[in-house]
Amino acid sequence: MNTVNTINELREQVRAWKAEGLTIGLCPTMGYLHEGHASLMDASVRSCDRTVASVFVNPIQFGPNEDLATYPRDFESDCRLLEAHGVDLVFHPEPAEMYADDFCTFVDIDVLSKTLCGKTRPIHFRGVCTVITKLLNTVTPDKIFFGQKDAQQLAIIRRMVRDLNFDVEVVGCPIVREADGLAKSSRNTYLNPDERRAARILSRAIRLGQDIADGGERRSGKLLAAMKEKLVSEPMAEVEYVEVVNGENMQPVDTFREGDLVAMAVRIGGTRLIDNFTVGQPPIDFQEGQSNAD
Ligand code: AMP
Repeated sequence: MNTVNTINELREQVRAWKAEGLTIGLCPTMGYLHEGHASLMDASVRSCDRTVASVFVNPIQFGPNEDLATYPRDFESDCRLLEAHGVDLVFHPEPAEMYADDFCTFVDIDVLSKTLCGKTRPIHFRGVCTVITKLLNTVTPDKIFFGQKDAQQLAIIRRMVRDLNFDVEVVGCPIVREADGLAKSSRNTYLNPDERRAARILSRAIRLGQDIADGGERRSGKLLAAMKEKLVSEPMAEVEYVEVVNGENMQPVDTFREGDLVAMAVRIGGTRLIDNFTVGQPPIDFQEGQSNAD
């Protein structure tokens, strides 16, 4: 596995592979990698000849009061995971390599970026779309891999690729969870043991929502009321939102159907956690009473 830090080196490697007729998969990440990220690498390695992973904490997708400075980083450990999962090339640029001092071109997306996380993170998806555009233009991969964990991001990238005619297949990968149901996330490391235990409430609320939807309920209000009640039963949980939106355009729906998205953001202590399920997908599985914090 090779590591490159510059756009030029990345382009050179890609050019050589393309000359050999090889297909390329791209997995963008911000590092501090876990099994959720690894599932993207596995999907790429399975279906493409070569896999490129990027490890870059993208400054322009963080708001002024967010955790850019404290975002966890461990590049050596990331490389071990990437190598073990068969990644061929790691792109690990410095911020200055991606954004020159006079950088002023952004890719913005309307409508889909205004709901859910977009309400409290107004510049986030502009930052995501801009960096993904830069990566797509540099790597020109056949496939690009994203986790369903960030469902709004996935929907936004699908739309951006369609609207701007990028010649790439967007592949969504299922959420990988801890044994107790908590969706794996680099930010879980912010949780102290009490918060880590309290964080189980997200997956419990997801499971409750799935049971209610599977039982035939179709009114968003009823579903959301039950899920909110579950979430607030945990004293450490502070609900930012729980919403049901159309799975493609991310707009709220009063009655929902298969393919719609039920998404939440909840603060536990100072840590903002997100989770979701798609209506009609099989119920999530976890061990009751199990926690990595126990
Ligand atoms: P991040 O490093 O948080 O930007 O995530 C990089 C990619 O990994 C994104 O496409 C995420 O959706 C995906 N990802 C992060 N956590 C998980 C998870 N628990 N399961 C599946 N995909 C994930």
